Amino acid sequence: MADYTIQHDRPNCIGCTACAATAPAFWEMGADGLSNLKGAKKNAEGNEELAIEQKDYAVNKQAADSCPVNVIHIIDKAGKKII
Ligand code: SF4
Repeated sequence: MADYTIQHDRPNCIGCTACAATAPAFWEMGADGLSNLKGAKKNAEGNEELAIEQKDYAVNKQAADSCPVNVIHIIDKAGKKII
């Protein structure tokens, strides 16, 4: 079972590249200039969601912390929004 869920409010990403630089195993820049959360499910609004395990939390928390517009969110198993 996943320990955390990452949510990327992709429509509001400004394409600064910080997440991709911080956590390239999970984040990459897309052809449209916005970042993509690798392997994530994308909904109709363009938001992305990916379940991760504890071992992948720290690097993604760093990526979320690096985002200047706070469009990367991490939710824990209990549904608590960490960032
Ligand atoms: S750090 Fe935030 S604004 Fe910058 S590319 Fe990543 S999601 Fe987009």
